[in-house]
Formats: sequence, structure tokens, C-alpha cells
Amino acid sequence: MAVTSELKMNENYAACPLCGSGSSIKLLKKSGRQLVHCRSCGLVRQFPMFPEEVRMACWQGETRLPSGRTFVEHYQQGEVWRRELANLRLDQLRERNFGGGKLLDVGCATGIFIDEARKRGFQVQGTDISSTLAGYGRHHYGLDIREEDAATVSLEKGSFDVVTVFDVFSTMRSPLAALQNIHSLLKPGGLIWLTTCYANLGLWLFKEERPFNLYLTPRTMNAFLTRAGFSRVLARVVVKNANLPSLPGVRRLFYRIPVVNSLARKMVEALAWKGEGD
Ligand SMILES: [Zn+2]
Repeated sequence: MAVTSELKMNENYAACPLCGSGSSIKLLKKSGRQLVHCRSCGLVRQFPMFPEEVRMACWQGETRLPSGRTFVEHYQQGEVWRRELANLRLDQLRERNFGGGKLLDVGCATGIFIDEARKRGFQVQGTDISSTLAGYGRHHYGLDIREEDAATVSLEKGSFDVVTVFDVFSTMRSPLAALQNIHSLLKPGGLIWLTTCYANLGLWLFKEERPFNLYLTPRTMNAFLTRAGFSRVLARVVVKNANLPSLPGVRRLFYRIPVVNSLARKMVEALAWKGEGD
């Protein structure tokens, strides 16, 4: 009995990874896990977080996704469109006057994005916690990919022009510490570009693709980045759905249909700058 009430106390007072508050409201529950909403900052997160062994087993390719494929298989398929996406992203960086210099991709998997960035003249570096994915990128593309966590990766401080974090932030064990470390690695005026899954309750209930711990909104993403020391933070919701027509005008039309819009996969995308003189 004593053990049960102690567990309950721990559950109720587990600290929010964004603001540190111990007060949260339960939104949903399944299979011994809860989706909770922080009363203080509004962060939606899973509690308890996925254990480290579950997270690692996913990235190492030991568990299967709902599609039946392992994450490693999922990542290695579709290399052509991943390279196309990488180039679209590099175009967007160039439009913001980040067309070269030192670039770090956090959670780079096999390193397709930095492989394309290198072709454009960037000096590139990748990190990934999966030895399977990082090893593939080192062996097949000759890239420098470290097997280190974003919160602790030790690279030269104040040396990077751009750090990208695509679709891995909500699975991190220590998201705030990761952003603080990234902030220290950037030059003054440097840019972080981050995309992550949106606070979509349907995603948590029916379509968990990866061990997501955080379900972010532009407001909570802003708060994470500001707390880590970034200035000029721009966060917004973007819609991703590979099954819809690719012409932008047709897509916009489809998304005006409420049912389609609610089913579409939404992401939070954020840009933030390290202030001059930080
Ligand atoms: Zn909070």
C-alpha cells in the first residue's frame, strides 16, 4: 500500500521538462501511460516518458513501426525523396542568407541532409544516438557523424552558423538541455531550424510512429527556445501529408475541408536566432 501511494506521489509531482512545475492535468490514458497537460506552462507530454531502452531499440532498428518496417528500413527507403527534401530545405536556408558555413544536423540519421549540404559547400557535422544509422552514414557517405546525445555533444562552442533538428526533438530525454547546448555551439547571429510533431491527441491515441514524449504547439515550442536563450523565435504549424496532391493550390483547397484538415499530419516548425553578443 505504501509503495502504491509513493508511486502515485511521484507520478503527480514529476517535473515538467519545460517549466519544472509538478502540477499537471491528465488528458488521456492508455497501456499504463498518460498524456498530461502542465497547469503552469501548458506543455502536453507523455508521462512517464519512454524508457531509454525503448527509445534506443526504435532507432537501432530492433522494434517495428505500425507500418511493419523497422525505423532503419523506413529511413533507408525513399532516399531519392529525402535528397529532394534536403535540397528544398537548403534552398530555404539560402533564402534566409544561410547558404554556407558550418552546419550541424542533430539527429541526422544516416546523414542524407548533411550529405546534400556538403555538396553545396557547407562544412558539415552530424550527430545521432543510433550507432546503426550513424555507422551507415559514415560508411556509405563518408560523413563525420558522432554517436552522441544533443544535450551533451561536445563540439567547439560558438562555431556553427546553422544547427538543424528535424523531427527528433519530441523524442529527446532532455529537450531543454539539448537546446541550451545547441545555443552554446552557435555563433552569435547563428540559426537553429527545428521541426517536430504537433500536439495532436489522435497521433498519441492511434498513430504513434516513434517514441514521442512531447506534443508541442507553437506557444510551447517558443517557450522552450526562449528559455534556452534564443531570441527572434518564429514558430508555426505546418501540414504534412504525403497522400494529398502535391500542387500547392490543390493542397490548400483540400485543407479547407474540415475532415481532411483534422486528419492531416501537422508539425511545429520553428526558426530561432542566437542573439548578437550572447
Ligand atoms: Zn510546464
